Amino acid sequence: MVSVSHISKSYGPLQVLRDLSFTVSKGEMVAVTGPSGSGKTTLLQILGTLDRPDSGQVVINGVSTDTLDGDQLARFRNQHIGFIFQDSRLLPEFTAWENILLPACIAYGVSPSGHTSATPTDTIATEQEISTFEQTVQWCRQLVELCNIHDCVMRQPRQLSGGQQQRVAFARALSLRPSLVLADEPTGNLDPENAENVMTLLNKLRTICRCTVILSTHNLELTRFTDSHIRLAS
Ligand code: ADP
Ligand code: MG
Repeated sequence: MVSVSHISKSYGPLQVLRDLSFTVSKGEMVAVTGPSGSGKTTLLQILGTLDRPDSGQVVINGVSTDTLDGDQLARFRNQHIGFIFQDSRLLPEFTAWENILLPACIAYGVSPSGHTSATPTDTIATEQEISTFEQTVQWCRQLVELCNIHDCVMRQPRQLSGGQQQRVAFARALSLRPSLVLADEPTGNLDPENAENVMTLLNKLRTICRCTVILSTHNLELTRFTDSHIRLAS
């Protein structure tokens, strides 16, 4: 699913990643750990094709990402990758529900207004192919239920707690059913109880959505939620 071979990355004289290689299987949940400054964000940005390594290769779903550029990269990201950040990065002028719909609105060229109900009316099976905007909206409604945000999804992000905002960000990241979810310190702003809840939810979502998850954390305790663990040295 993800294959990283011999990647290195420096910023000026500072070598952040050196000859790093690993593979991640489909459906696996992997933690990247290491102290602050060890290169976790750098690695996730490279995996997410938001940055390039100085040398080495990243292959995702059989595609060598160094062969893509410009529009191809943007399309590849939309089709294959969902991003979750430490701060939820929801757009403040939209409701949580509109935030969840936005990737689909962009992908299908549809306005987010007018899709007012977040209540599922139909069920889309996870193995069913989604090929229309309406099906995607239906899937987003299911994500609202899965993420247990039904009661708060019509509010604006500033009216939500940190844990609720992060659950909305999860639903948004999964809205186009990416095969790879990259989460950079998804629990970094949360108290221990919320951090555990968010990790449990991430685990549930990866099982239901059958996606691969690579997350970074400096909290070694959270690796008990993951299948394996890549440790970056400081
Ligand atoms: P982590 O996420 O583990 O805290 P980062 O990947 O953010 O680590 O950063 C690793 C190192 O690279 C840090 O020393 C950081 O200051 C440096 N760094 C990250 N991005 C840049 C950049 N764009 N330019 C210069 N240095 C950078
Ligand atoms: Mg970081």
